[in-house]
Amino acid sequence: MTSIKVPQARPLPKSATFEIARRVADLRAQGRTVLDLATGEPSFDTPVAVVRAAEQALRDGYTHYTPSGGLAETREAARETLGRHHGVRVRTEQVFIVPSAKYGIFASLASIVTPGDEVVLVGPHWVSYEPMLVLLGAVPRHLVLDSASNYRFSAPSLRSVMSSRTRAILINTPGNPSGRVLDTGEIEALAEACADSDCWIVSDEIYAQIVFDGGVHLAPASHPALAERTFTVGGLSKSHAMTGWRLGYVGVPQSAVNAIDATVQNTVGCAPAFVQRASVVAMREVDAEVAAMVAEYQRRRDELCGALASVPGFRLSTPQGALYAWVDISRAGRGDGGEIARLLLEELGIAVAPGHAFGAEYTDFVRFAYGCGSDAISAACAALAKWSLTAPQPLASP
Ligand code: PMP
Ligand code: GLU
Repeated sequence: MTSIKVPQARPLPKSATFEIARRVADLRAQGRTVLDLATGEPSFDTPVAVVRAAEQALRDGYTHYTPSGGLAETREAARETLGRHHGVRVRTEQVFIVPSAKYGIFASLASIVTPGDEVVLVGPHWVSYEPMLVLLGAVPRHLVLDSASNYRFSAPSLRSVMSSRTRAILINTPGNPSGRVLDTGEIEALAEACADSDCWIVSDEIYAQIVFDGGVHLAPASHPALAERTFTVGGLSKSHAMTGWRLGYVGVPQSAVNAIDATVQNTVGCAPAFVQRASVVAMREVDAEVAAMVAEYQRRRDELCGALASVPGFRLSTPQGALYAWVDISRAGRGDGGEIARLLLEELGIAVAPGHAFGAEYTDFVRFAYGCGSDAISAACAALAKWSLTAPQPLASP
């Protein structure tokens, strides 16, 4: 029998992070020891109060559909979370509980973008944004930021990639992979660039609660001129060590509530009922556990970034938030980011993500994730220190 072929007109790239995670699992199954600094997967267990709440919810019969926007109490808890951790004020009817932040980003885009529309991606950017645009038939317009601008954008740089066909700008703060947190100047720049346009903003704030050194997370929707054009997406995966629960939330502009409701109803229907129940506990009752995890991430960041800065030819800035160190390896003299990722895996057993996964221009970068356990971080740091001894002379500045 001949098999039916999947159309190749628009091949959808796989998720680089999921593919690397699979590679790591395959290598481990073959008996290799691999330190997984490739994926943003928290090493912690979900706080026990959340697990207990899910068990109780299952026993209490939370095993059916919920309204498409979510259970009333979960929407209310997410509304509080949007206020407390994002600085975003919305009414409860503007809050959508969704199965994962990833789906929240996709549903937001699917509600406002039609084929041929342009969407601005600010690089370096997370691996799944561009494939989402491919699925929607939208066209990415890349704003390529670099260390010369400290990865900051301005109104003119945003405008340089916008046109009359631009329907949305996708923002991510704290940033994956950059570790950068947007500042007030950039929020103003967004307001200026979008003024008098019909451009939406989708703001991916999955790491809103993972900010270091007493820094402050700023959301575009906290700006009065942006509130009514911004989708604020958050979730529990990272801050609450709940990646497998698939729970996210979106603060939706009032004028887009019906559009996203239709998208959710006709695709996933709703987020799992018992997960929504447990998420109320996560959003209201485990602040101390979240704070302890964030403090430990900051400690791991310091340890890892210290080791990375000592590798000849590696250059990086201290991440302000999220779970990643973004390293410019252009002067290391060992090849591009893909080659360094291969060497780290082959020679040291350290899995990392190559820079090109975060935008075609970032071939000279490598991303190290430090969500993994503290033992893995220490082992990786020790291996990097040894590796440094065999390093070629760093290349001179151009
Ligand atoms: N956005 C960014 C920037 C991410 O790194 C991730 C991965 N956690 C997500 C969204 C998706 O999160 P979730 O697990 O809620 O789908
Ligand atoms: N967000 C994680 C990362 O960037 C992995 C999970 C995913 O890509 O959905 O490593």
